[in-house]
Amino acid sequence: MIEDDKMTTFQSLGLTDTLLRAVESEGYESPTPVQEQSIPPLLAGRDVLGVAQTGTGKTAAFTLPVLQIMGRNKPRGKRHIRALILSPTRELAAQIDERLGAYSEHMDVRHRVIFGGVNQNPQVRALQRGLDVLVATPGRLLDLVGQGHIDLSRIEFFVLDEADRMLDMGFINDIKKVLKLLPNRRQNLLFSATMPKSIATLAGSFLNDAVMVDVSPKEMTVNRIQQKIMFVRKADKRRLIVKLIKEQKVKCGIVFTRTKHGANRLVKQLDQSHISAAAIHGNKSQGARTKALAGFKNGSIPILVATDIASRGIDVEGITHVFNYDLPNIPESYVHRIGRTARAGRSGVAYAFCDDSESGYLVGIQNLIGMEIPVETQNPFHFEGAIPKPGQKAGEMKKKSSQKNKSNDGKPRQHGYKGPRRSNSNNNNRGQRRKPKDGKPNNSNRGQNKKSQSQGSDSNRSRNNRNNRSRSNDNSGNNRRHGGHRR
Ligand code: AMP
Repeated sequence: MIEDDKMTTFQSLGLTDTLLRAVESEGYESPTPVQEQSIPPLLAGRDVLGVAQTGTGKTAAFTLPVLQIMGRNKPRGKRHIRALILSPTRELAAQIDERLGAYSEHMDVRHRVIFGGVNQNPQVRALQRGLDVLVATPGRLLDLVGQGHIDLSRIEFFVLDEADRMLDMGFINDIKKVLKLLPNRRQNLLFSATMPKSIATLAGSFLNDAVMVDVSPKEMTVNRIQQKIMFVRKADKRRLIVKLIKEQKVKCGIVFTRTKHGANRLVKQLDQSHISAAAIHGNKSQGARTKALAGFKNGSIPILVATDIASRGIDVEGITHVFNYDLPNIPESYVHRIGRTARAGRSGVAYAFCDDSESGYLVGIQNLIGMEIPVETQNPFHFEGAIPKPGQKAGEMKKKSSQKNKSNDGKPRQHGYKGPRRSNSNNNNRGQRRKPKDGKPNNSNRGQNKKSQSQGSDSNRSRNNRNNRSRSNDNSGNNRRHGGHRR
């Protein structure tokens, strides 16, 4: 651990000139906390267990030392895979590979990303030419191992990134299979945004005397994000989001929905309101996802509508607004979502819409982040009925029998809704428990009900971990350069 924060430079962490040049051309002035804490032990050959989310600079934290050690002792003979980086999603994998390219700019290192959903042939050809570093999603990796295209027996570095999301997505068996293919002597790195027991167990199964680096997402990002909650009927959410996007002239915003269907529907609805938006979720082909992301990054599509899984690893600087159109049923997802804004030291606004079926989710989120999210007073659709009741438990609300068979297709429910009304700008905190004093976070409920939400939701877990294996030939797999990351 570095003791004097102010004095820490990339140089003082022990990086070579080659890497210092790369870091400099990226415009990084000083290391982020996860880099400060991870790079020295990694350079010393230690295993590292990092609690850090995307946006903290963790990719450089693990890539730079791995590249440096690889450069120190180059093996003779044909290139072989020396480092394996495993990532849960294609977007994150592509992004890691893009960063690898930037950091190894002045080195003779061949790297490549492989993932499912695209033609495997270009990937196989790259493997046959020889690689030093392989970035992969588990499904495609095991497919190609099974076909004899990948040999993992000489891996020196194994990086498991976003381990918690890996488990949520049901990749545990794939991870175990991969571990069996690796040689015993190797350096291990595990990064995870959260540290539930399942991750601690996984870490214990393959890390050796690891150094723990904990960069809490609360401290890293939440403080720079202006969070706002808006209580609203489900049927009014659409009008509310249109109003906010138009009034605030949002040019780079991301909207989260719980379902893929919900994302598609919202894109259509925004389009009807003359707001250009694109959806990004697991049912979209890789080509469509790449196109949507590219349009979002170059500014031609101002609004991206995403589900949680697809949003992992989306690293677009300059996102000014995050809208939680639906509240996530997993509290940690809220932290990941709002972390899409306020990147690289900037600030951002994160709105959360809470309808009457979601107030239990809000309780879970507030318990996790240890504060009540301030209520946005400018809300003409304000709905008192969505405010959590005193003593309400975290988690899913039990559906009332009258609601069970009703579809939520945008029609108001039969409980006295009389159309939009202007709320009194001072009354919006009414009914919320434990008002924050002086605008400061109230930690009184911190820790309560922490365990009331299961860490890995069944909906996530049910996602088949072989999703990546579809064989669509929609694109050549050449998604490595998303561009737009340079600062
Ligand atoms: P990551 O958490 O690895 O996804 O990185 C998030 C973003 O931070 C990326 O756009 C990086 O280019 C950027 N970044 C990484 N390290 C630094 C640093 N030391 N200073 C400024 N930006 C950085």
